[in-house]
Amino acid sequence: MIRFFNTLSGKIEPFKPITPGEVKLYTCGPTVYDYPHIGNYRAYMFEDLLKRFLKFMGFKVTHVMNITDVDDKTIKGAVERGISLQEYTKDFTEAFFSDIDALNIDRADFYPRATEHVQKMAQMVKGLHEKGYAYEKDGSYYFSIAKFKNYGQLSKIDLSGRKVGVRIDSDEYEKESVHDFALWKARKEGEPAWDTVLGLGRPGWHIECSVMSTKYLGETFDIHCGGVDNIFPHHENEIAQSEAYNGKKFVNTWLHCQHLIRDGEKMSKSMGNTITLRELIEKRKVDPMAIRLLLLSTHYRKILNFTCDALDQAHASLRRIRDFVYELENSQFPAGEKKSVVELIDDMKQTFSMGLSDDLNMSVSLTAVFEAIKKGHILLSQGTIHQGDAMNLLSALRSVDDVLGILQDKNESDLPLDIVQKIQAREKARIEKDFALADKIRQELVEEGILLEDTKDGTRWKRIQRK
Ligand code: AMP
Ligand code: ZN
Repeated sequence: MIRFFNTLSGKIEPFKPITPGEVKLYTCGPTVYDYPHIGNYRAYMFEDLLKRFLKFMGFKVTHVMNITDVDDKTIKGAVERGISLQEYTKDFTEAFFSDIDALNIDRADFYPRATEHVQKMAQMVKGLHEKGYAYEKDGSYYFSIAKFKNYGQLSKIDLSGRKVGVRIDSDEYEKESVHDFALWKARKEGEPAWDTVLGLGRPGWHIECSVMSTKYLGETFDIHCGGVDNIFPHHENEIAQSEAYNGKKFVNTWLHCQHLIRDGEKMSKSMGNTITLRELIEKRKVDPMAIRLLLLSTHYRKILNFTCDALDQAHASLRRIRDFVYELENSQFPAGEKKSVVELIDDMKQTFSMGLSDDLNMSVSLTAVFEAIKKGHILLSQGTIHQGDAMNLLSALRSVDDVLGILQDKNESDLPLDIVQKIQAREKARIEKDFALADKIRQELVEEGILLEDTKDGTRWKRIQRK
């Protein structure tokens, strides 16, 4: 049985999708006003883990992630740079897709962009106005939270200090300012605007997700995710808009990940403590799969403290897995297989899925994998592994890697050009029997984190921890 902590109920509860065997999943995507930082990727990684795990358990998952390409922050950025919103958001959107590929995050089925759904957003706001949940002021429309009796059900905010009819225009605000919020913002000089049933204007941030999730997943769907900072006001407002409009429950299960922190503070642009993925990969030459493993290793509801030590540890763990796989793939073993190895594998797989079934308890699942590797290493060192055992172990590791995603490094084939050229130069030196040069290049590559090994099938390379 799979159990998740549902923010809505505040409890761990059994997970049951609306349609047996199928899960409809919506995850709030990036606001493309800057390069995403590693804190954002904690959220996207937790969602990737959730999706991969559900697939591993046999569910068909339909995953939608929006791209917020119009909101207060994107407009501010575009206005400051004096370029169009589209021009401004294009680079950040591309950076996001290239980063998720680098981290081997599985692509969603749909990436709707807010700017492509503005007419539908205006129609929904019009509908809310007609139903009496929204009111108009100077061409802008606001959601009246007093009209929606379940307001606060997700975030459990204290509504006692609320003043009826006090409005807030900005997309983001704190719990202390529980106010009627903007659904639609009337056109302002110098800002982009759309001509709609409400007149000229643009959507508020919250209505975007209500429209895009419903369009692709239906009026009621299974799981909605984000970071804990999304609970209020974003997700609370999504529920209010959607349930008021459709008269139905919006989402059954809400999952939220805790923050990634650095130097004791939430990583965020406003704190000035962000690190982007490209900074880690390109400048600091960190292996993206070590970042992936680090982000996955801490339980999603616990704060993750991002430090160099934690990254080194993730590197070391990654290396342990890769080295074991390499040994199994490249050694010769006598024919046959042992029952004890089959049992060891069964134990690993069972504990792996049991851990994740318990509200994505990754530490139980990872311990099961490393325990199996430890036992496998002992067998390797004793020389008691047979060919069948090696095959069984490899296929079991590949199967758990469908969830972990750290062995199928999509980027293995596209090593940086300078590394490829060095590998070729060494090969040439070897053929020309210039062994001194070949050794020198080999050593340089070790320092870059690439180990070359000459096998009877030619030279192979693997990533190792940088010296
Ligand atoms: P944004 O682009 O600011 O809307 O954020 C995109 C996603 O990243 C949201 O789900 C946020 O909750 C999440 N997020 C932002 N900062 C952090 C952080 N420091 N740790 C974890 N998740 C974060
Ligand atoms: Zn959202």
